[in-house]
Amino acid sequence: MKIGFIGLGIMGRPMAKNLIKAGHDLIVYDINPAPMDELAGMGAKKGTSPAQVTSAVELVITMLPNSPDVKAVVFGAKGILEGAYKGLMYVDMSSIAPGVSIEVEKELAKKGVKMLDAPVSGGEPKAIDGTVAIMVGGDEATFNKVKDVLLVMGSSAVLVGAIGSGNTTKLANQIIVAINIAGMSEAMILAQKAGVNPRKVFEAIRGGLAGSTVLNAKVPLLLEGNFKPGFRIELHIKDLMNAMETAHLKDAPIPITSQVLEMMCALRADGKEKDDHGGLIQFYEKIANVQVRD
Ligand code: NAD
Repeated sequence: MKIGFIGLGIMGRPMAKNLIKAGHDLIVYDINPAPMDELAGMGAKKGTSPAQVTSAVELVITMLPNSPDVKAVVFGAKGILEGAYKGLMYVDMSSIAPGVSIEVEKELAKKGVKMLDAPVSGGEPKAIDGTVAIMVGGDEATFNKVKDVLLVMGSSAVLVGAIGSGNTTKLANQIIVAINIAGMSEAMILAQKAGVNPRKVFEAIRGGLAGSTVLNAKVPLLLEGNFKPGFRIELHIKDLMNAMETAHLKDAPIPITSQVLEMMCALRADGKEKDDHGGLIQFYEKIANVQVRD
């Protein structure tokens, strides 16, 4: 399929590579030229603007940081809207506010574009392996047309409801991950302060009910003080702010999420916003005056 891919960062770059490896014909675009050159080296064409990419393909995919970036790429000068035509399919895989997905779909529908919101979970390693989990909102006919393309990038693609539902699902995912990281951090601080080796605690509990994907992925890194991203704290702040905004609009109280958001904001104020979200433990390390190491 002729596919346009816009946003070649930590996630978009490996996802686009997997599409090329699967035999798709790609045109790529990013405001940063370096990943475009890298993808061109693998056979992709370099686009000159979102509008130009859009007008040349059947399906355009975006993988951008947040709602304002998606709105800029769709509605801005030389944006997707300018290049759009009736029958074009657009899949936004960025994690953004569900209300913005709905707003963007409404405008693009006026030009006959079929849009899905399809954020992902799994992080860079799964993006490289082509095994992210994809949560999709939109109409079923469009989902069925792009499902094979999504399954090149992910090990699952589940249609959860109408446009915006993919991002609501992603917010649910991000709440669970954030609270898990906070729980893991509190537990490891307790172990360290009480004089029990935190690696031993991890080994002892990982097979029980407290075991989790978060525990397995993050504990080995935090024991080395390795907070290289991965998923940056600033992006998790963005997701939790979108979760708070959506929760307030829908009258769904999420008090623990708001506390974890405040911890992440404290780390941002301390200059740690580019660290991996597993670096949340540094909030606890500071208030407990201890480092968690084995
Ligand atoms: P990133 O910042 O590494 O990449 C974003 C890319 O978009 C960059 O290459 C940037 O240059 C490009 N970009 C920004 N504005 C643009 C514009 N106007 N036009 C063209 N390109 C533009 O971010 P990422 O980590 O790849 O995350 C992308 C999305 O995926 C985010 O919504 C994030 O929350 C989500 N996500 C990330 C992870 C992860 O582990 N990193 C996991 C799951 C979901």
